[in-house]
Amino acid sequence: MDTPTLAVFKLASCDGCQLTVLDCEDELLALAGRVRIAHFLEATSAVEPGPYDVTLVEGSITTAADAERIRQLRAESKVLVAIGACATAGGIQALRNFGDVAEFASVVYARPDYIETLATSTAVADHVPVDFELRGCPIDKHQLLEVLTAFLAGRKPDLPDTSVCTECKRRGLTCVMVADGTPCLGPVTHAGCGALCPAYRRGCFGCFGPMTKPNVAALIPRLRAAGMSDGDVDRVFHTFNAASAGWSS
Ligand code: SF4
Ligand code: SF4
Repeated sequence: MDTPTLAVFKLASCDGCQLTVLDCEDELLALAGRVRIAHFLEATSAVEPGPYDVTLVEGSITTAADAERIRQLRAESKVLVAIGACATAGGIQALRNFGDVAEFASVVYARPDYIETLATSTAVADHVPVDFELRGCPIDKHQLLEVLTAFLAGRKPDLPDTSVCTECKRRGLTCVMVADGTPCLGPVTHAGCGALCPAYRRGCFGCFGPMTKPNVAALIPRLRAAGMSDGDVDRVFHTFNAASAGWSS
């Protein structure tokens, strides 16, 4: 059997999720013995044309060129995995979806007429079918390794779709919202970070996006009781996963 090929591509993003791939270090070396890295510009200058067995895509669609590129990558990839909040929910740059891009460009750029961009930042799945969406800003390395090994073994990834609260409980952490009155998005946020912020006595900021069937309506009065104004509530839900349908409801 041929050695499977792995490709990593970037769209509009900060590279943080690709850095998480590099942060796998020892595991990546073991993985490199099982796959041929055909395209991953942050790790190697070797560039092989598709088709690829597994393709990881970081970043959101913000230009017409991105939209064309993702269609091409879909056609060239047996398995296409969107990684990170940008690729799964439009990312921080989806804040543009609530404003006027032409107005931003006129303020930021000396020659806005040179800027070719879409009015919105959207997830990869809004443009092409994806085989898996891996959440997080950035993604979690252990979840990434599970996704990669699962697809290379020909099975589905086994990742929780519960809330960050379940990770808090497994770690035996004291709830910062109950004990300290600190606002926390953990009850509606997808598990994956290992309850990182609550472990440091901070509320969850929601960087892993909405869990399956989040009960946002029940959480909002708790956030207000913890001292958040309506504007604060809007802002905290609009941070990392602004375009996510799960929270806009
Ligand atoms: S999801 Fe976050 S860490 Fe990953 S590329 Fe986007 S902004 Fe960077
Ligand atoms: S600290 Fe936040 S994530 Fe942890 S149990 Fe409390 S509400 Fe849930």
